[in-house]
Amino acid sequence: MNQIAVIGLGVMGKAIAQNMMNHGFRVAGYNRTYAVTETMQGKENFIGYKELKDAIESLEKPRKIFMMVPAGPVVDAMIDQLEPFVEAGDIVMDAGNSYFEDDARRGKRLEKLGVHYLAVGVSGGEMGALHGPSIMPSGSKKAYDQVAFILETIAAQKDGEPCCTYIGPEGSGHYVKMVHNGIEYADMQLIVEAYIAMKAAGMSNQSISDVLESWNQGPLESYLLSITIKILREKDPDTQKDLVDLIVDASSNKGTGKWTSQCALVQDINVSLIHGAYMARLTSNDEKLRHRFPKVQSHMEIDTEQLRQAYFLARVVAYEQGFRLYSDASKRYGWDLNLSKIASIFRAGCIIQANLLEYIRDTFGRLGPDASLFDDFEEMALAHLPALKTIVTNGLLHDISMPLFTAALTYIIPMQQVALGANLIQAQRDFFGAHTFKRVDKEGVFHHHWE
Ligand code: NDP
Repeated sequence: MNQIAVIGLGVMGKAIAQNMMNHGFRVAGYNRTYAVTETMQGKENFIGYKELKDAIESLEKPRKIFMMVPAGPVVDAMIDQLEPFVEAGDIVMDAGNSYFEDDARRGKRLEKLGVHYLAVGVSGGEMGALHGPSIMPSGSKKAYDQVAFILETIAAQKDGEPCCTYIGPEGSGHYVKMVHNGIEYADMQLIVEAYIAMKAAGMSNQSISDVLESWNQGPLESYLLSITIKILREKDPDTQKDLVDLIVDASSNKGTGKWTSQCALVQDINVSLIHGAYMARLTSNDEKLRHRFPKVQSHMEIDTEQLRQAYFLARVVAYEQGFRLYSDASKRYGWDLNLSKIASIFRAGCIIQANLLEYIRDTFGRLGPDASLFDDFEEMALAHLPALKTIVTNGLLHDISMPLFTAALTYIIPMQQVALGANLIQAQRDFFGAHTFKRVDKEGVFHHHWE
């Protein structure tokens, strides 16, 4: 009998099914379009089914069903289709990028049948799915314990530990994956801002790539830097031009960065870099805005060591903002998230895998969930702050928009700024709306008759 069904054999489903098969798990495959399933028939440890019912009935009990379909109504529709064939004790996993608030509803629906529902975050793209992704499962711990032997085997391994750990109840796994993507948006945009600054200094893609390669070590080493180094060296096979220069200057998204921003607003957490990264993607597509004024092309001198320091500091801010969301969500939703473990499973397999995660794991491991990355990075931050200031001010003077470097700077400055002027806000609020204020010289809440 088959050990697990993979429903949805698209880019991710096919790769993760292959990963399971490579590890010796017997996989039942089902895809809406059977022609896709057929391309996998005959592979070792795989049987593809035309009918969903047959795929589910081919499974050992309790049945383990791994859905890898687009988030939203498709997941509900798949659960509709699965309902007649599943029974008490079975485990349905939604491994797509679903919105975490949908999980509670789906979990309750299946729980009525005695069927367990797991919200499973998966990161690593197609290659990660095939060779070992980072996996963030949540829901019933009892159900997780029954699928752990598969998920922990197919996950990336780092220092002998799987990059898969039980995250917590309800949709916490999808939440953790969503914020992972928010951090990913920010880190990608920060690399872009370094790239665009070096371009403004007249550097070729090859020399920018060489600079990034020199950065890609120690605490700055990351998967995103390493792929960018390769991208900048890639030639278009037809024209032999740098391929990156032939790609249209407009980026798209599938919504997880936007969700992270929305959640941050609900949670009242400042994620200016994640938000800015999403806004930067919107701006790149805003034709009307981008062609409003005549173009100016300024030349900017760049000190690549200063740029490295600015990138390092801004990157720490991006991770700090993401992990503050985790810390707040843990309390707000009663999930009891282990931030050190989250950092630990991000160390390999996922898109934000980076050496920095070793430091983050250590910070939260030693100092607990309320820690700040600046507890450990204060010295670095103060040493790198002048570089960030120089890069941002030079960039702005030379018509180079660096929304995330700027956001990082304006996130850090208030940490040392004596006064923010919020006293004047409170006075204005009290003036027009009797919203009251507190005083520095007396206890209590006050209202002043301003006129
Ligand atoms: P693909 O578009 O490659 O595959 C989608 C799969 O879902 C296909 O098997 C498709 O079947 C099936 N499907 C689509 N619509 C329906 C429907 N109405 N009813 C039944 N089946 C349907 O997507 P991905 O594999 O890239 O993504 C799958 C999930 O994984 C998504 O939630 C995505 O956000 C998430 N994810 C993707 C990552 C990536 O890097 N691509 C990384 C991490 C998560 P058919 O062949 O019939 O169209």
